[in-house]
Amino acid sequence: MDNSRPAPSMPTPPPTGPRLRDGLAVFALDGNRVRVGLAEPVVLEGLTSHEAALVARLEASASSESPNVAGYAHVIDRLTRLGLTEADPRVAVSSGGHTPSSVCIMSAGELGTHIGLCLAQAGVTRIVFSDDTPVPADDLQSRTLSRGRGDAAVRAVNAWVPRAARLAPHHHTYAASDVVVVVAFGAAPVPLIHDMMAADQPHLPVVTDEYGVTVGPLVVPGEGPCVTCLGIARAEQDPDWPMVALQCNGARRAHASAAGRAIAAGVACDAVMRFLQNGSADPRQWRIECVERGGRLISGGVATSLRGGPHVSETVVASHPSCRCHQSSVLSDDFEDQESILF
Ligand SMILES: [Zn+2]
Repeated sequence: MDNSRPAPSMPTPPPTGPRLRDGLAVFALDGNRVRVGLAEPVVLEGLTSHEAALVARLEASASSESPNVAGYAHVIDRLTRLGLTEADPRVAVSSGGHTPSSVCIMSAGELGTHIGLCLAQAGVTRIVFSDDTPVPADDLQSRTLSRGRGDAAVRAVNAWVPRAARLAPHHHTYAASDVVVVVAFGAAPVPLIHDMMAADQPHLPVVTDEYGVTVGPLVVPGEGPCVTCLGIARAEQDPDWPMVALQCNGARRAHASAAGRAIAAGVACDAVMRFLQNGSADPRQWRIECVERGGRLISGGVATSLRGGPHVSETVVASHPSCRCHQSSVLSDDFEDQESILF
């Protein structure tokens, strides 16, 4: 495995001076006191009127121009020590002059499109959809305008963020990107996972079932757990799983409620954005339950309980000792052997 992969890059923001962290609001109190924040407010006391006014101007959304902080270094230091200021984003994302980050989304159904839209709004300027599945017959608008689901997704994303999305040059294959997001029902396609492991391609599985959506881990081949690690562990608990997993792929569409889709898209976007910042594998896995479990067993199946709303939980998954994804000497053929046994 190649451990020398350079960190992917984020779009370079315009240079800015000191600012409060995004979302922090400043409220004036009596006696030149200033309250910063709503949920966990910090109250600054002992300020002069000029210092209080400066803090208000440091609110990120207050002005598009950086306030002049000359002579107020002590105020900036105080805010920084309190953890209220934004770390200078230029340090983290612009070194090395990389090209803008790119994300490929495999499967451009409703969930994949949601994820693309989130990523575009988060600042990813190159989102590639790989999916030429015909749009559903009941989706008249998309059917009349688009050649396939990928085309419909590109139109949907570009309507919000012009020129952010495009179609993959070759369908049914992933476009080499900083990250590939694999959206699937039941299990990520084994041949696709195999190809990406062999190519050292970072990827994020987003998998749905009848109850909800599982996002992660963000796999960086050779670091942290991989999809096969999870497959081995699941097969140990559920011996039928390999046969079931094989039957998940195909024509089934990723399924999730509207609320579950929106939450899963946000969680997936957050995982991708963090990877684009730090380039590290993330062993966390998020589960979005769209329907509360606990249905009662009836003849022929389980009557689903519709109680409760969406619920998000986080777990940390581990590499499996039987998986050879961490052995640098393993050839791609070995992976194929291992997965052909597993699945
Ligand atoms: Zn593994």
